[in-house]
Amino acid sequence: MFGTIFDIVHFAIHDGPGIRQTIFFKGCPLSCWWCHNPESRSSDIKLVDREETMDGFKLSDKETIGMRYSIDGVMTEINKDIVFFEESGGGVTLSGGEPLQQHEFALELLKECRKLEIHTCVDTTGNLSSDILSNIASYTDLFLYDLKHIDDAQHIKYTGVSNKQILNNLKMLDEMKKDVWIRFPLIPGINDDESDFLRLMEFLSKLKNDHPISLLPYHKIGSQKYNRYGIEYKMNGISEPDSDYIFQIKSMFTNAGFATSVGG
Ligand code: SF4
Repeated sequence: MFGTIFDIVHFAIHDGPGIRQTIFFKGCPLSCWWCHNPESRSSDIKLVDREETMDGFKLSDKETIGMRYSIDGVMTEINKDIVFFEESGGGVTLSGGEPLQQHEFALELLKECRKLEIHTCVDTTGNLSSDILSNIASYTDLFLYDLKHIDDAQHIKYTGVSNKQILNNLKMLDEMKKDVWIRFPLIPGINDDESDFLRLMEFLSKLKNDHPISLLPYHKIGSQKYNRYGIEYKMNGISEPDSDYIFQIKSMFTNAGFATSVGG
């Protein structure tokens, strides 16, 4: 069995507890306007142009985005960092793209990690069948779960898919009493309408268990990649939120009783 991976990051500290190794799967069913990893969207391995300037000279090169890995190939990478996982309470995070678009490969990796008692985390859009997600959940210690917009029409506009399955799957993980950290990208003018925040908090307050929320303020890192990958960048004119504004939104969630942090 092979999976298509576009990056493996050692010593990651924002993708779950402790020091982690994050495996970035290629392919995503969403097409978020603000995505800072546009190279992750297509599940194909691609050859793209790369230009670098060295000593005033422009150098052109080709770069391959994505690589086929076997389970053993990924486990070889994971095994290099086990000592750091043990010392820091860390582990392995499957991210992307959407890692569960390659759910069979993801499941095998999670099973291998479980055999070695490595903490596992899956960073998911939640946009997949409930049966697959429930199977994955049996081998996952923690989910990082993206909620991008509570309004379905707006969700479709900005990500290309409905949020119905995403919200239903979050309810299912909650019923299963899984550890879930919710991640909300905070994007001025796109998902920061006060009435939408109230709807989001109403939805979250109906979950049976507490799930911490991370606000991920929009940033423009990655915008220059769009040209390289031949993808239209639609976020021109959208500003990064300033710290006062971020604090104001965080306070709104905190005052409503949600454990809320910024970043992650
Ligand atoms: S879900 Fe994540 S990887 Fe997929 S398009 Fe959106 S931001 Fe990019």
